[in-house]
Amino acid sequence: MRLHNTLTHREEKFFPKDGKTVRMYVCGPTVYDHLHIGNLRPIIVFGALRKYLERFKGWTVLYVENVTDVDDKLIERSKKTGDSVEALAARYTEAYFDLLRTLGTERPTASPRATEHIPQMVALVQTLVDKGYAYEKNGDVYYRVAAFADYGKLSGRRTEDQEVGARVALSEEKENPLDFTLWKRAKPGEPKWPSPWGAGRPGWHTECVVLSRQYLGEPLDIHAGGSDLIFPHHENEIAQAEAATGKPFFRFFLHNGMLNFHGEKMSKSLGNFAYAHEVLEKFDAETVRYFYLSRHYRKPLDFSDEGLEEAKKALARVETVIDEIEAEPAPETGEEAGPAGQAFLELLPGFRARYLAEMDSDLNTVGGLAAIQELVAETNRFRSTARGSDRQVLREAVALVRELGWPLGLFQEKGRVQKGLEDELIRLLIDLRAELRKKKEFALADRIRDRLTELGVELKDTAQGTIWT
Ligand SMILES: [Zn+2]
Repeated sequence: MRLHNTLTHREEKFFPKDGKTVRMYVCGPTVYDHLHIGNLRPIIVFGALRKYLERFKGWTVLYVENVTDVDDKLIERSKKTGDSVEALAARYTEAYFDLLRTLGTERPTASPRATEHIPQMVALVQTLVDKGYAYEKNGDVYYRVAAFADYGKLSGRRTEDQEVGARVALSEEKENPLDFTLWKRAKPGEPKWPSPWGAGRPGWHTECVVLSRQYLGEPLDIHAGGSDLIFPHHENEIAQAEAATGKPFFRFFLHNGMLNFHGEKMSKSLGNFAYAHEVLEKFDAETVRYFYLSRHYRKPLDFSDEGLEEAKKALARVETVIDEIEAEPAPETGEEAGPAGQAFLELLPGFRARYLAEMDSDLNTVGGLAAIQELVAETNRFRSTARGSDRQVLREAVALVRELGWPLGLFQEKGRVQKGLEDELIRLLIDLRAELRKKKEFALADRIRDRLTELGVELKDTAQGTIWT
């Protein structure tokens, strides 16, 4: 499979470095508000990539998405609404998980919260200070951009250009206007944690470095997010990680294109804006997924109700054919399909191969969906003429549509929602077991594991938490 790597500015052959496990990290939500329709894009496209790698490449995917539950935006919102930062974060974290459920997206392997990992972030900042890559001024700690020779390698921005541009606000405390905050001292009333530089909170860029390394281990394969994160967020993550460890950070950086709202840049203040849950109230999850996947993930996507209506029709074209074929009485077994049926069957591998070629080409879901649509059209043509025992091969076409639709979260049996629930329930048991172990109630914790094993669910405790297969 080839994926476009922002780090090298070109498509490259992708495979997990260790040959088996893909370690993938996607920047998650800052939980100060509900997610908007732009936030849905990385969830849907990188979720599809995850499932494609698992199903069609046979690799295990560790998929980590953080939850930013302390941040300037949360503090501002807290001041405005009077709710505490914790209460806001709890409310919108829950809303985010609800949204994943509605969307039918599998939960990440881990969803670490920033506030539960502050000591690890302090340790990273300390390492950077010790190595001369960071300095403290009045309780704030800044990254010394000039000390990292590779700064700008992801975004292609040269530091000299930026200094001339002088668009970065000048602070008297910084040695250089490009230096960014690693640790922010707390103002009165703000959330704070202890550190060698006084009470404060870590910067967002530090969070993702710590959480990705802690929950994925090494080697780090894919770091993904929206293209608005290339600079400064991902650039600043690389600067910290590589300076601290002396080793390359992620091998691949993937970025999805931005979303426009009815042809204009999305902006809350201009009213060109919609929340994700509002859209999911108007359109079902499959329609929304189909819409997002019907445009290549790197291109800009124009969000519109008309676009969603089109997606709904395209989806219905496939589902109607599937439903009608499945409504036919089950074919009698033992009777061979005739020459026409055999000829139709021989066409199926070609559609599968085309779908794989498209998906292997930088996750071209547009081409993948087109291959499925043509498979359905061909099936429909054959269906209109097929007689007798020839009709039994129609079900093979349906099975193929379902197989190819699986990574996209489309065309599945209606029980698919059940599958999402199953995933949630297993996660819930894993969380409970972890709590019990913390309380040293090992007998009960082991019972949960044993019962799950009996049900065919195997738990594996790793340094990064428990994973299940
Ligand atoms: Zn991030």
